[in-house]
Amino acid sequence: MAAQTLAGDIARDTQDILARLGVAPNRRLDGALEARSPITGEAIGRVDAGGAASTKAAIACADAAFLVWRNVPAPRRGELVRLFGEELRRAKSELAALVTIEAGKIRSEGLGEVQEMIDICDFAVGLSRQLYGLTLATERPGHRMMETWHPLGVAGVITSFNFPVAVWAWNAAIALVCGNSLVWKPSEKTPLTALATETLFERAVARFGSAPDGLSIVVQGGREVGGALVEDPRVRLVSATGSTAMGRAIAPRLAQRFARTIFELGGNNAAVVCPSASLDLAVRAIAFAAMGTAGQRCTTLRRLFVHETVYDDLMARLRAAFTAVSVGDPREDATLVGPLIDEDAYGAMRRALDDARMAGGVVVGGERALADRFPAAFYARPALVAMPEQTAIVKQETFAPILYVMKYRDFDEAMRLQNEVAHGLSSSIFTNDMREAERFLSAEGSDCGIANVNIGPSGAEIGGAFGGEKDSGGGREAGSDSWKAYMRRATNTINYSEELPLAQGVAFDVPQNGT
Ligand code: NAD
Repeated sequence: MAAQTLAGDIARDTQDILARLGVAPNRRLDGALEARSPITGEAIGRVDAGGAASTKAAIACADAAFLVWRNVPAPRRGELVRLFGEELRRAKSELAALVTIEAGKIRSEGLGEVQEMIDICDFAVGLSRQLYGLTLATERPGHRMMETWHPLGVAGVITSFNFPVAVWAWNAAIALVCGNSLVWKPSEKTPLTALATETLFERAVARFGSAPDGLSIVVQGGREVGGALVEDPRVRLVSATGSTAMGRAIAPRLAQRFARTIFELGGNNAAVVCPSASLDLAVRAIAFAAMGTAGQRCTTLRRLFVHETVYDDLMARLRAAFTAVSVGDPREDATLVGPLIDEDAYGAMRRALDDARMAGGVVVGGERALADRFPAAFYARPALVAMPEQTAIVKQETFAPILYVMKYRDFDEAMRLQNEVAHGLSSSIFTNDMREAERFLSAEGSDCGIANVNIGPSGAEIGGAFGGEKDSGGGREAGSDSWKAYMRRATNTINYSEELPLAQGVAFDVPQNGT
C-alpha cells in the first residue's frame, strides 16, 4: 500500500511528530496493524505487523548479535546506553506527546514516562562499571572461590499498553549493559510509540558506530508474536509485563523449557488510613494513586481501608476530590484524567460498578464522560465506592479508575484485609504512629513487593527493585540488584596449589604409574 494521509487533526499531529522524530513515512503509514488514539478513538497510523515466522527470523538475528555483544566490555556497552539516553533527552517532548496521543496519558505523565526512560539509562550507565561478583571463603588450602556474572542471551520483552515505552526501557537499558540482545513485542495497542523508540535507539546505534546488527529488534503484533518469543529456546529470558491472565497463559510454556522469566503482572493495591494520619496529605496521595493515569497503572490504588474514627471526614474529602477532578482531553493543561484505552476497558468498569452496587456498594461517579465531544472514545468519571465489606468484585483487578473504600476497627483487621487478595504488587499506609508504620513494613505486615509509608502505592522511582508477589508475578525490574536476573552466574574454584584436596574431606586416590 502506498503512503497515505490519515484524516483528522490528531492523526496529522501524530504523523508530524513521527516525521520530526525521523520515522520514515512507509514505516508509519503502510502496515497491517492499525494504531488508534484513545483521545478520539480514531486511526492515527499503520505499522508492519509480523507473525511467528518473522519473529523467529528476528530472534535468529538477535542471537547472532548477542554472540558479538557479549564480548564487548560492559563499560563500552554502557556508552551505547548513554547515547540512547541523550537521544531520549533531545526527543523528550516529542516522544511524550506521542505517549499522550497513543496511550491517553496527561502531558505531565507522558513527560514523566520518558523521564523514567532517561533515569534508567543513567542508572544503567553507572551499573555498567559495577557488575560485580563475590570472592568466597573456601575450605581448601591454596584455592580461591569466586562468582562471575556473564551475559545471558536474547532477552524477549513483552509489554503492556499502559507504559508503552518506559517498561521496555527498564528492561532494555539493564539488559544491554549486561551484554544481552533484545527482541521487543510491544502492546498491539501502542505500536507507534514503540516505532518512535526504535528509531531513537537506531540513532544511538549509528552514533555508537560498532554495535552488531540486530542488537535490539522490535516485532509488532498480537499474541502470536509474543507466543513465538515464549516458545523459542534461543530467548533465554522472557520479561513479560501485562495482565495476570497473560502471565498464567505463558508461564507453563516457559517453565516447560526452563526459561528465565520476569513476570510483572496485575495489581490490586491497597492503602490503610490510620487514626493518626494527616488527612490532607492522604487525600492528595489517594487522589493521584486512584485517579492518575485514569486508573490504568499496575500500581493504581484500588482498595482503601479507613479507620472508623476518621472514615466520615476522609470520605467527605474524597467525595469532593472525585467530584472536582477534571476529566478530558489529556492534551489540555487543565485535564487530570484522560480516556480509558478502549471500549472494552469502559465495559469492564461498568460491569464492576454494577457488581459493586449489587453487593451493597454506594457509588459516586463512574459515568461515561465527553461522549458528545468524542463519540468514538471512552472517558469515565472516576468512581468512589463505599463498600460494606471486601466482596468478590473488590478482590479483582478492574483496570479502570474505581476506588473501593471500607472501614476497619483494629490494625490486625486492616492487615488481614490488605493481604487477603490474590495480587501482591503495591501497598501503603498513612499513619504518624511509628509502631503502625513499622508493623506494616515488617514480616507480619504488607505482603506486597512495594510497601510505602505516607505516600501512595503508585509512582515508583527506578532506583528501587520494582515488582510484586503472588498473582503479581514475583519479578523484579529496574534498580537495586535486579540486573542479576539478566545475567548468568558462574561459581569458579581455582586451585593454585600442588595438592588436590577434595571438598568435605572426600578421599579418592587413584593409583598412578602402577604405584
Ligand atoms: P495484556 O495482558 O492484555 O497484554 C500485555 C502484553 O502481553 C501485550 O503485548 C499482549 O499482546 C501480550 N500478550 C497477551 N496475551 C499473550 C499471550 N497469550 N502470549 C503472548 N503474549 C501475550 O495487558 P494490558 O491490557 O496491555 O495491560 C494491563 C495489565 O498489565 C494490567 O493487568 C496491569 O496491572 C498490568 N501491568 C503490570 C505492570 C507491572 O509492572 N506489574 C506494569 C504495567 C501493567
